[in-house]
Amino acid sequence: MGTVELRNLTKTFGSGENAIVAVDDLSIQLEDGEFLVLVGPSGCGKSTTLRMTAGLETATAGDIRIDDTSVTDREPRDRDIAMVFQNYALYPHMTARENMSFGLKMNTDRSETEITERVEEVAEIMGIEELLGDEPSELSGGQQQRVALGRAIVRDPEVFLMDEPLSNLDAKLRTQMRTELQALQEDLETTTIYVTHDQTEAMTMGDRIAVLDDGELQQIGTPLECYNRPANRFVAGFIGSPSMNFIDVTLEDGALVHPEFEYDLAEPTLETLNGQTDLVLGVRPEDIELAETGGIEASAQVIEPLGDFSHLHASIGSDTVTVTVAAGTAVPRDEPLGLSLPEERIHLFDRVSGAALK
Ligand code: ATP
Repeated sequence: MGTVELRNLTKTFGSGENAIVAVDDLSIQLEDGEFLVLVGPSGCGKSTTLRMTAGLETATAGDIRIDDTSVTDREPRDRDIAMVFQNYALYPHMTARENMSFGLKMNTDRSETEITERVEEVAEIMGIEELLGDEPSELSGGQQQRVALGRAIVRDPEVFLMDEPLSNLDAKLRTQMRTELQALQEDLETTTIYVTHDQTEAMTMGDRIAVLDDGELQQIGTPLECYNRPANRFVAGFIGSPSMNFIDVTLEDGALVHPEFEYDLAEPTLETLNGQTDLVLGVRPEDIELAETGGIEASAQVIEPLGDFSHLHASIGSDTVTVTVAAGTAVPRDEPLGLSLPEERIHLFDRVSGAALK
């Protein structure tokens, strides 16, 4: 079993006026075998959370439990975890084989033969049998990352902790390794916490994703839950690419009012708003349609062809929106354009708290 529970985890760096609350009362539970992605912008506390789980950083408050046992006061080597770092952190003067064997030699009472067999078995899984005699300086970035992953896998830990493991690889290799890593984790069924700032990685890799901002958990759910039903404006803007469009509107007499348009809301939607009037209308670029007639009046600014579709940037008064349109869509610049926003696809947020109301 490899369940993980972070219970009210808090980390404060420094003290007094200069104190930084890097992680603020964070509670997350992982099931055995689950792949959880911790995602959020730079400085939101992802690495600090992972480092506390690994035991590389002391928690200021809270508890870390693996298999329902508190490991908060245990040394990293006694937590049954293996960590994979962005910079690979291989020992430079050891061969790939020595790097992969090192943890086994230090921590277990396996025989030399057993260690050799285990390293070779994992090297085969990772496709690095030919590289076992090489030192890190003789390997490419992608090969070094395979050795680093291999080193984590040979130990067969309860939990993998991965801190942006793919971000030093070029775009093509990153996409390839993303798929491989996912397949590997499914085969090994090892509980994994994976940190990234890349929402695409989070959306494609995680069984669930935990979105952090400013040290606080904003939402935890499956990628589609976070995409379809973001808990607040932050999650709505962070998940999805290009980002959701946001327009300030005011609720008046059952309609969303903007200087350039009025948008009538159906009764069930009005009921979800609890009388809030200062709102933000959110709509994803892929959910806006070009209206044959009518619609919200906009004017096209720039169109970016991206192969099988294009991004149209248009203005609605002083607001700018991005719309995903079919490839080859011709929209004359500055010509009036009608945009249609299907009500079932729009989101509404409280302008002050950012909480999602619809
Ligand atoms: P990044 O993707 O840039 O690494 P992150 O989401 O992983 O960001 P953390 O590295 O966990 O964020 O940092 C969270 C906050 O804690 C930041 O404000 C950072 O400056 C601060 N911080 C992290 N480590 C320390 C430290 N050792 N001393 C002081 N402040 C720190």
